[in-house]
Amino acid sequence: MALSGILKKLLFVRQFDIDEGKINLLGNREIMLHASAILELQEMDESKLYDLAKKSGFKNLAGAVEHAQVYSRMKGVFVDEIAALGKKIGETDQGTIKTLQEIFNVYGLGEMVIQEIDNKANQALVAIKDSTIAGEWVRKNKRKSKSAVCTITAGVLAGVFSYIFGKEVDCAEIKCKAQGNSFCLFKIG
Ligand SMILES: [Zn+2]
Repeated sequence: MALSGILKKLLFVRQFDIDEGKINLLGNREIMLHASAILELQEMDESKLYDLAKKSGFKNLAGAVEHAQVYSRMKGVFVDEIAALGKKIGETDQGTIKTLQEIFNVYGLGEMVIQEIDNKANQALVAIKDSTIAGEWVRKNKRKSKSAVCTITAGVLAGVFSYIFGKEVDCAEIKCKAQGNSFCLFKIG
């Protein structure tokens, strides 16, 4: 079975499992839906889905950090890097940035690469390789899009970085794979 590093660690400490109709991740229940269903939900009300994804991204990361802190106190075996996310991350802190990327990648929205991060200005530039939403959009519409389509991804990024910066920020997609670019690019802050 191929799993990302972070899920392997979580599986090992029983903080991730799929069994008996339940997907448990860090003490929370998750639901898996086909990407086409997520795209349809997004098309019903884009700004509402952006807001929901933003709240959810913030809560998921805050929950993961709290859970990691409590859990490491209880068992002394946990991914310290997740707990360290509670502190502000610096440009040189490659370990924490890598962990943040690994956490984001669990969403299944595509592979996150943080290109620039500025904690003082609360800004970041993030690339998403092989966006699930962009791929699904092109498959469904059988053409390139005139505008960027990864609204839910922008929402999750806004929530995650609002937590990291300790200040509410928004996220805009400035380049999308559905427009024919080689990857999606998001500006945060
Ligand atoms: Zn996109």
